[in-house]
Amino acid sequence: MNLLKKIFGGSSAKSDQRYYTFSVKCNRCGEVITGRVDLSNDLSVEYEAGGDIFYARKVLMGENRCFQRIEVELKFNPNRELLEQHVTGGEFV
Ligand SMILES: [Zn+2]
Repeated sequence: MNLLKKIFGGSSAKSDQRYYTFSVKCNRCGEVITGRVDLSNDLSVEYEAGGDIFYARKVLMGENRCFQRIEVELKFNPNRELLEQHVTGGEFV
């Protein structure tokens, strides 16, 4: 019982931290698109005076006939906590 709880709790906590998910709404057609950043592979590092910044950029397109490209930029600190988010062509929901 204790062992089972330990394994289950440990693995779910880890997988939650691996990905940062977000949703954006297209400015043109209103479709909501979900994106995901793999915090282990998708980040590039920028060296800034105050500390390293981890940076991710995603371009999303909906499945409707609308071909609006939605560009998302995200910045994280070394603990993978979100510092800044910016979106072009849509809005965060
Ligand atoms: Zn759209």
